[in-house]
Amino acid sequence: MSRKQTKYIFVTGGVLSGVGKGITAASLANILKSRGLKVNIQKCDPYLNTDAGTLNPTEHGEVFVTADGAETDLDLGHYERFLNQELDQSSSLMSGKILKQVIDDERSGKYLGKTVQIIPHVTDVIQDKIEAAGSGYDVHFVEIGGTVGDYEGLSFVEAIREFKSRVGRENVLYVHVVYLPYIGASKEVKTKPAQNAVRTLRGYGISPDILVARSEEPAGESILNKLSMYTDIPLDGISIVPTLESVYEVPLHIGGLADYAMNKLKIKSRKRDGRAWREMVKTSLDTSLPRLKVGVVAKYLEHEDTYMSVFEALKAAAWGENMQVDIVWIDSEEIEKKLPLETLESLDGIVVPGGFGSRGVEGKIAAASWAMENKLPYLGLCLGMQVAVIALARENIDKSANSVEFDPETKAPVISLMNDQHEVVETGGTMRLGNWECHLAEDTRARKLYNAKVVSERHRHRYEFNNNYRKELTEAGMVISGLSADGQLVELIELENHPFFMASQFHPEFTSRPGAPNPLFKGFVQSIKSVQNNK
Ligand code: GLN
Repeated sequence: MSRKQTKYIFVTGGVLSGVGKGITAASLANILKSRGLKVNIQKCDPYLNTDAGTLNPTEHGEVFVTADGAETDLDLGHYERFLNQELDQSSSLMSGKILKQVIDDERSGKYLGKTVQIIPHVTDVIQDKIEAAGSGYDVHFVEIGGTVGDYEGLSFVEAIREFKSRVGRENVLYVHVVYLPYIGASKEVKTKPAQNAVRTLRGYGISPDILVARSEEPAGESILNKLSMYTDIPLDGISIVPTLESVYEVPLHIGGLADYAMNKLKIKSRKRDGRAWREMVKTSLDTSLPRLKVGVVAKYLEHEDTYMSVFEALKAAAWGENMQVDIVWIDSEEIEKKLPLETLESLDGIVVPGGFGSRGVEGKIAAASWAMENKLPYLGLCLGMQVAVIALARENIDKSANSVEFDPETKAPVISLMNDQHEVVETGGTMRLGNWECHLAEDTRARKLYNAKVVSERHRHRYEFNNNYRKELTEAGMVISGLSADGQLVELIELENHPFFMASQFHPEFTSRPGAPNPLFKGFVQSIKSVQNNK
């Protein structure tokens, strides 16, 4: 029996990048999933890197980590949140990975003496990887990073053009996401760049079926008509998407496009279940809800998206409690200069997220110590656990306690490399990545919040809690509430006699979803809520 044919929806961009291709792809996938279809989604990035692990977050935003340990572009975070679905490494495809495979195949003689070329060899590998990721699903979405016409992205564009011959044109749909600029002087939304972008795509042999036009200013019917006229796409296949309060609103705006796409691909809804999503969006927009103010203490980075998943997890947890969260980015280097820390007094809680390198780390240690002493709810994420351990050790064991990452010569290396416990050496690509089991101790806040004995959470770090200090630190009041399966790695700590002080070696933000916040974030917000209610 032949397997059911997967339908493929390709999402490309024109005019400029960064206008919401990822959100468009995720939103269409969200709608189709809510209609009972089994969907998958994949991002193709034209970088020569093999994964996002080595990309600087200052330039690219957060590195998102999948359960199977792939270091990926932050769009995968959107995908997981919009789909409420775990993705794997096949959802992230970078040019470097493709070229490496082609070169390795050439070296091992797989091409039997043929001339190895971009077309067909590179484009074939791309198509194989797309087809493999889509296999077994009703619909597979593929987003092509960058803008059509970029020199470096052309092999992906050619691959997706050829793909319709591979699987049949009735099984493929192309969505082009473009930008409509606004000219202030004449108060006009212009369509010319969008028209040209469609023409460019046609120049590469792809005729878009659907056009999504992002417009920051309201654009009326005349613009829609004009777009349809010049691009030859029927009105039903075009949507002008304004700038919305929340990205989660986008699926509510493009339902019509999903109808159109399903019609064209001849697929039928199996159910309609968008209610929970609509409710979540309604809560997210409700400005009358009580507010909480959370400080995220991190070193100053220019890219707002560096802590995308942390911010989204805080929002999701707040909405779950019918609250709104105001997130204040606190520059940890500023804290270092300004000690003591009155600046933290106005906050309802502190989050210290993940990070690398020593810049600003003293400010983070100070913030953890302040939260400890002043009984301010604290959530530490990866580095946030390490600085909490350092703060506690400085108070109770040795004033110079540190992580060997920041002071290799420290007398009290409470955070260190644990070579004997698992293969960690200090070179690139050797981090503890992806899902690891965490066994939760009885009678702890962690056990109560997760309501489970064993959970799996995602990792991305090199250093670990140093077991030589377990005894002294537990005597000082630290509760080890989560350990790895072999009991050797400290995964989660908490403090008793504190409204909420929890810190994990893993990254709970990666598994948090709107409508289903991770238990640690949920507990953090709940503790703030109960402090507020008792005031
Ligand atoms: N720099 C720390 C380590 O490598 C923490 C990493 C992180 O926060 N993701 O262990």
